[in-house]
This record gives sequence, structure tokens and C-alpha cells, in this order.
Amino acid sequence: MSSERQQSERSASQQDVVKKKVILVTGAGGFIGHHLVKRLVAEGDFVRGVDIKLPEFEPTDAHEFLKLDLRHCENCVKATRRVDQVYHLAADMGGIGYITASHAGITLNNTLINAHMIKAAHENGARRFLFSSSACIYPQYLQNVPDVTPLREESAFPADPEEGYGLEKLFMEKLCQYFREDWKLATRVVRFHNVYGPLGTYDGGREKAPAAICRKIARAKTSDAIEIWGDGKQTRSFMYIDDCVEGIYRIMHSNYAAPLNLGSDELVSVDELVDLVSDIAGKQIAKRHDLRRPQGVRGRNSDNSRLRQVLGWEPNTSLRQGLVPTYQWIAAQCAVADAGRSRKSLVAAE
Ligand code: NAD
Repeated sequence: MSSERQQSERSASQQDVVKKKVILVTGAGGFIGHHLVKRLVAEGDFVRGVDIKLPEFEPTDAHEFLKLDLRHCENCVKATRRVDQVYHLAADMGGIGYITASHAGITLNNTLINAHMIKAAHENGARRFLFSSSACIYPQYLQNVPDVTPLREESAFPADPEEGYGLEKLFMEKLCQYFREDWKLATRVVRFHNVYGPLGTYDGGREKAPAAICRKIARAKTSDAIEIWGDGKQTRSFMYIDDCVEGIYRIMHSNYAAPLNLGSDELVSVDELVDLVSDIAGKQIAKRHDLRRPQGVRGRNSDNSRLRQVLGWEPNTSLRQGLVPTYQWIAAQCAVADAGRSRKSLVAAE
């Protein structure tokens, strides 16, 4: 039997499910979901992962993994059977190029996934439901300069979110609030700010800036120029995956139900990010800015005051610390993929 079939058919023994709390992670085949599954399994929970696809880079640790398309209501009902807690991370998403390319598909897919998931979780008796929202819900009029004021939770309204993806996330935040107020489902809403780390998408169009930059530098020779989207002066903060998983776990177990930022507040420009990765790679890299490519808002940073107040904790991995293992992992992936490609072309030439 192929390892894919073994994994997708991996199912729980009846006894396991009866004995332990069942924790559901949707999007368990994706970057954050896969890391979160590992953490929850290590905590001793019984973990069910659900996704339309298996994790790309290593097998899942989930006790049970269901391959389901969560746009369909009946699949959300299946996924949420006997669950106690739901970490809802499944979404049609990607970097700025992906989420600005077409709003119709992303908005429709995420609307269907989110509405069906929260309804099914509630009807199947889940006691807690955590929704992964995004800094893309924040008004664009607050993010017009590189030297941006960090975004506080209460500045989400008056609303002017990112078209499509951000607007849908903001609507789902409100749906979580209404389910909590009217139907007593304990919801948690986490606004992630740019997450990066090993085992994340680094190629193919859905990758985000840190992964794309690591890949371009890994494939460049010293003194090559790499393409940078925009003028490089746009600013962001980036959160390492271990901090993200820790924060999600703490927020789920907190008593705080309103939306919370989860991000780093170490603000850098995209050019500074490129310089940092070049330094880690030990390569002198020049930049070729492409102003026709999307760059998103001019500046975005997380205000962590409320997070500190609620959790007594905040992400604390520096960007340099987090980029070292991320770059090493992406460089190793590129080396393996490139070796495979040149073997294939040698065979084709013979
Ligand atoms: P990801 O793309 O790696 O993971 C999302 C997963 O959802 C994928 O594995 C995908 O296959 C799955 N999915 C998509 N459509 C599905 C469907 N119809 N049925 C079942 N599964 C489906 O993304 P990620 O970085 O792990 O993000 C996880 C969550 O965090 C998402 O909700 C995303 O919007 C949110 N978020 C992420 C970031 C970030 O920087 N990574 C920032 C803000 C918000």
C-alpha cells in the first residue's frame, strides 16, 4: 500500500476515541496545521487532522487523518464527529501574488469552508472553536507608510480590509462572535501576522515573502541579482512557526474570546529581509526591484500589548534566529529538487 493511502486511511481505534478528548485540526496538511498537530500529539491529545491534501514534506503525526474537501457541508459534519475542540486553519490562501490574483475563487471557497465548519462544530457539540484570522483584516488606511504604527485589535473598524481574503476573514470573525453570543459556542479568534519556518511552501506561487526570498538566494550565486517585488521599502513583521504554535495553544486555553494579534513586532523592510537572508547564506546578493509586482500594504506591524496582557507571553524568536533553520531547510529542499532535475535532463539527453 502506498504511504499516501496508509496515511489517508489512518483511522482511530474506537477505544482511543472513547478514552481521550478528540482535538480536530483543519488544514492539517498545510504549514501551520502540520506543526500544530505535532505539538498537540506531544501534549498527549488524540488528534484528528483534516485537509484536502496530505502534508507535503513529511508524514503527519495525527492519530487519524481524513482527506476531505471542507467546502462541502457533509464533510464538515464528518470531520467534527465527537470532537471536543476545533483548531480551524483550513483556508484557500497564499502570498500576496496569490491572494490578489483572483478574489472570486478565494472568497467563495473560504466562505463555504468557514460557514460549514463552524455550523458543523456547533451542531456536533464541540466545546471550543479557534479560528485562524489574519492581519489582512486591518484597514488599509492605517497601513500607508513604511514607518507604520503597530496595529491594535480595536482598530479593525471602521473596516477597510484587504479585498476578498481579508474581507472574508473579518466576516468570519464576526460569525464567531455571533455563535458565541447567541449559541454559546466558546470561540477564539487569532489574527496571525506573517508566519514562516521550515516545512512551509517555498515554491509554486503560494509561497510568502520569507520563503520566496530564501529560495531565490539559495539558487543564486554570489553577486547574482534576485528579483524583489515592489521597491523593497515596504515593511512587515514575521513570526517564527514555533512561536505561532505556542501562541495558538495558549490562546485556545485562555479565557479570552475577542480577536487577538499573534505576531512578532520586529519591523523590517523587504530589502532588510533580503540582506539578512544573504548574510545567513554567506552570499553577496544584488536586488532587482520589480515595481509591476504586487507589494501589498506599505507597512504592517503587530501591536502585542493586548497579547502580553492576556497571556503574559509574546513571540520571542528574533528574525535572524528563525531565518537560520528556515534558510537551511529551503536550501536543502532546492538542492535535492535541482539535483533531481539535472539527473532527469541527463537521462533525456542520453
Ligand atoms: P496553508 O495553505 O499551508 O494551509 C492551509 C491548508 O488548508 C492547506 O493544506 C490546504 O490544502 C487546506 N485547504 C484549502 N482548501 C481546503 C478545502 N476545501 N478542504 C480542506 N482543506 C483545505 O496555510 P497556512 O500558512 O498553514 O495557514 C493556516 C491558516 O492561517 C489559514 O487559515 C490562513 O489563512 C491563516 N493565516 C496564515 C498566515 C501565514 O503567514 N501563514 C497569515 C495569516 C493567516
